[in-house]
Amino acid sequence: MSTYEPPIFEYSAPGKIGVNLPALDVPPTGLPAELLRSDALSALPELTEPEVIRHFTRLSQRNMCIDTTFYPLGSCTMKWNPKLHEEVARLPGFANAHPLQGDALSQGALALMEDLQGLLAEISGFDAVSLQPAAGAQGELTGILVFRAYHQDRGESQRNEILVPDSAHGTNPATAAIAGYTVVEVTSDADGNVDLDDLRAKLSPRTAGLMLTNPNTIGLFEQHVREIARLVHDAGGLVYGDGANFNAILGIVKPGDVGFDFMHYNLHKTFTTPHGGGGPGSGAVGCTAALAPFLPGPRVRRCADDPARFESFVPEKSIGRMKTFHGNFGMLVRAWTYIRTLGAAGLRDVSETAVLNANYVQARLRHVYPLAVDRLCMHETVLRGQIAGAPGIRTLDIAKRLIDHGFHPPTVYFPLIVAEALMIEPTETESKRTLDAFIEAMLAIAEEARHDPLALHEAPHDTPVRRLDEVRAARQPVLRYDAAAFARLREAALAEVR
Ligand SMILES: *Cc1c(COP(=O)(O)O)cnc(C)c1O
Repeated sequence: MSTYEPPIFEYSAPGKIGVNLPALDVPPTGLPAELLRSDALSALPELTEPEVIRHFTRLSQRNMCIDTTFYPLGSCTMKWNPKLHEEVARLPGFANAHPLQGDALSQGALALMEDLQGLLAEISGFDAVSLQPAAGAQGELTGILVFRAYHQDRGESQRNEILVPDSAHGTNPATAAIAGYTVVEVTSDADGNVDLDDLRAKLSPRTAGLMLTNPNTIGLFEQHVREIARLVHDAGGLVYGDGANFNAILGIVKPGDVGFDFMHYNLHKTFTTPHGGGGPGSGAVGCTAALAPFLPGPRVRRCADDPARFESFVPEKSIGRMKTFHGNFGMLVRAWTYIRTLGAAGLRDVSETAVLNANYVQARLRHVYPLAVDRLCMHETVLRGQIAGAPGIRTLDIAKRLIDHGFHPPTVYFPLIVAEALMIEPTETESKRTLDAFIEAMLAIAEEARHDPLALHEAPHDTPVRRLDEVRAARQPVLRYDAAAFARLREAALAEVR
């Protein structure tokens, strides 16, 4: 696996070609001179078809992905993406629809979106849904901009603070700050809930709203959610729900029923549209009737004069567009297929199994990896990478060693309030056999940590590249091929191995 393969540019040689084009048998027609390029085409590799296919196939096999590996990345809900969804999304009527063909020629697509809006509203207890946002983070921005428009509409523009618990995902405070708000942090208590006294102390006439994740990022159900919502509403604020952890409560709790005013759904998490490199995301949003007039448009509704037909519309006080057209439509098709395939009972089963799987992992690992908070967990468990008898071992070492066992590591060092956090989200689509194999690997790693810590510090051992300088990769990414730079890096890597 770790044999050296030169990058594709180094296979290039002048005159190599990957296709057989027939000889021209029609008269050539020249392109207008102004459309011709004036300088020579440079730096495109010339290659044969096998070289190109092998290059990309090899790269694809280096990727850890849900199609090959258990992927317990906490907070990300890396559940299986059923292949049926891909077939439905590829139906020509969906795949070839042009966004400019207009409502009259898009009735099937509009019908699907109208139905999906209704399904998401029903599942979450909201009155209205917009499918526009392209990701959870964009759904957050949509929600906070809607909050601002709502307060302005009521003449309460002095509200300039958004409260965010200290356990929140980084996108929450980032969203509030980008929308121009002052972020006020609320602390968590020893049980992993929002500290109600701290919340009371921070609510004021300046409060525009609170952003709350439930289940929260410690994998725990926020036990005072109704009380929190009541306190925020009494102060004149609104409650934003970060719905990234919705996978734990489908068919069990409706966020709209427990006091949330607005929420984003991560269709690429809970509703299993492909994630990360697999495709664009979708961060549809739902809200109460009071906030619906401010949602981004277009949304979809049945025509008043002919309920068998559908039309796009923009809500009357809309904050405007968050994305072109109706958002990432192909993802809407996949999420709709998922919901329609499972039905209400199937969705509830998803959450019950996801919670059961996480508690099974928690119960079998908690004696070796200390729990962040000693409670039953929801769909994910947060442990600490602090192994008794192995003082030099850190969470990062454990995560890297898991790669040698063939597993994608869990989320590490998040949430920030848990030291050495290891956040494991098995999801409902994994079998007991897979969970057991993962648990055995985690236990073997703990054992090894005590007797052979070096094996962990030097992990991963079997990958094409070993431990990366992740900070440098993020700060100084090398995104273009540069033969000289590549040669230098290779020499440095080889010197390290020697
Ligand atoms: C994933 C996630 C987000 C952001 O969602 P994206 O779709 O990645 O933008 C926000 N909050 C939590 C808790 C998440 O897990």
